[in-house]
Amino acid sequence: MDKPLVQKVVIAGGGTAGWVAAAALAQQLGRLIEITLVESDDIGTVGVGEATIPTVQAFHKLLALDEREFMRATQGTFKLGIAFEHWARQGDRYIHSFGSIGKSTWMADFHNVWLEAKSKGFGGELGDYCFELQAAEADKFYTSDSSPMNYAYHFDAGLYARYLRGYGEARGVKRIEGKISRVEQNAATGFVDALVMETGERVPGDLFIDCTGFRGLLIEQTLKAGWEDWGQWLAMDSALAVQTASNDEMLPYTRSIARQAGWQWRIPLQHRVGNGLVYSSEHLTQEEARETLVKNLDAKPLFEPRLIRFRTGRRRKIWDKNCISMGLSSGFLEPLESTSIHLIMIGVTRLIQLFPFFGCTPALIERYNDLSRNEFERIRDFIILHYKLTERDDTVFWRQCRDMEIPETLKERIALFLERGFAYQAPGDLFRVDSWVQVMLGQRVKPQGRHLIGRMMGDDAQLKKALDSLKANISAAVAKLPRHKDFVQSYCPAQPE
Ligand code: FAD
Repeated sequence: MDKPLVQKVVIAGGGTAGWVAAAALAQQLGRLIEITLVESDDIGTVGVGEATIPTVQAFHKLLALDEREFMRATQGTFKLGIAFEHWARQGDRYIHSFGSIGKSTWMADFHNVWLEAKSKGFGGELGDYCFELQAAEADKFYTSDSSPMNYAYHFDAGLYARYLRGYGEARGVKRIEGKISRVEQNAATGFVDALVMETGERVPGDLFIDCTGFRGLLIEQTLKAGWEDWGQWLAMDSALAVQTASNDEMLPYTRSIARQAGWQWRIPLQHRVGNGLVYSSEHLTQEEARETLVKNLDAKPLFEPRLIRFRTGRRRKIWDKNCISMGLSSGFLEPLESTSIHLIMIGVTRLIQLFPFFGCTPALIERYNDLSRNEFERIRDFIILHYKLTERDDTVFWRQCRDMEIPETLKERIALFLERGFAYQAPGDLFRVDSWVQVMLGQRVKPQGRHLIGRMMGDDAQLKKALDSLKANISAAVAKLPRHKDFVQSYCPAQPE
């Protein structure tokens, strides 16, 4: 039992998923395993995926990446949250920020105090009590080792994969360029034995990581691990992506702007702006989608918008036999909350924890798959929330979103918030209480009840004084921050392309 059975790890695919997996495995387990990554320059990568969430910072710490170096190499900018425009009603806008709101206690979260104040006719907006949100609104940003800000990054997906490739190769990852023409399975066990390249070269392995994108060359085309479709809740199945030149604006947040049958993203990088429209092809033709996207760009597109088709759902067995899928091959949730890269990072982190040194046993596989399923489903619910809570009735698409049946798990959460202003982070939930609260309030849920903690803070005048002082402290701190663009230019300026 002492000789490890799994030593040769083969990663199929070199997009964000492939190189994230290779970098983390090399850094953490490089002394115990051999890693080979196969990718095809001809096939290329999906080429999108430029907005992240704060968990990326923890992952980068695991790799001991230098933030400035990584930002310079990827034309990166900072992200403090996402602005949702026209989602509940046309003209609405709210920010889902990454920050903590006010001061919560074990007894009740801060929004209950704010709800108390609102019921008395004061208190302003909930976002007034969030430093990151106010900094985003003011287009300000600052970070240092002692800075308490919660943030993520925007970066160029192609440059990110290239950067991690350099990192992985420097730590011993062997890269093979070329097309995989066939996957060789063991006749007795069905396990994958090797990838066979178009050149005839055979790449054997003990464990395979399928990062081949939507095609799922190993996990689906070979092992037929199955697919659970979530199209009944998330109708989006297409995206048009395009880039525009930078202008003076470099907002420290992603914009998500609801359109007639989908939504448009805007992601500012140092050298350009990433734009795209995610839409439902049942409700919008490609030409209509193109027109909507192009007429709503801030600058001339740098090329013709590129179409990407996708399916929303997850692989039934994310890990099957000796093959683990990561990235687009494992499932897909539209990028509304920028969660895909996080799922790759958590997927590889989990693999490192559950690494099958002594073989891919059913118990290990089941544990990995259970955790992954729960995580995917919890994020799915959070994304559905944005659609379900719309009040828009201007198009068939939005009416269908508003009227759709939703998973029971989500129904219960909305009811609880409506009834008692109670939001929670369940085990395996990526999104914190503050996230659920910001989105539910932003989407116009009006809680009918609340925890009465606010009444324990004294009379109305005392409550108002405490809230005003919290707000004033945040405003004063935000006023001292530099403009985001100025900070980026001094902290991590990239070379112009
Ligand atoms: P790919 O990039 O498709 O890479 C597949 C790799 O497999 C390539 O290297 C290819 O060469 C290789 N390959 C395939 N077949 C073969 C073969 N036969 N032989 C050899 N090699 C092969 N995520 C976020 O977190 N934030 C976002 O803002 C975000 N925005 C998105 C917007 C859109 C419209 C879409 C569709 C996705 C978005 N995502 C986002 C998801 C993100 O793009 C992906 O999670 C990420 O890029 C990972 O892709 P991948 O590496 O799995 O696949």
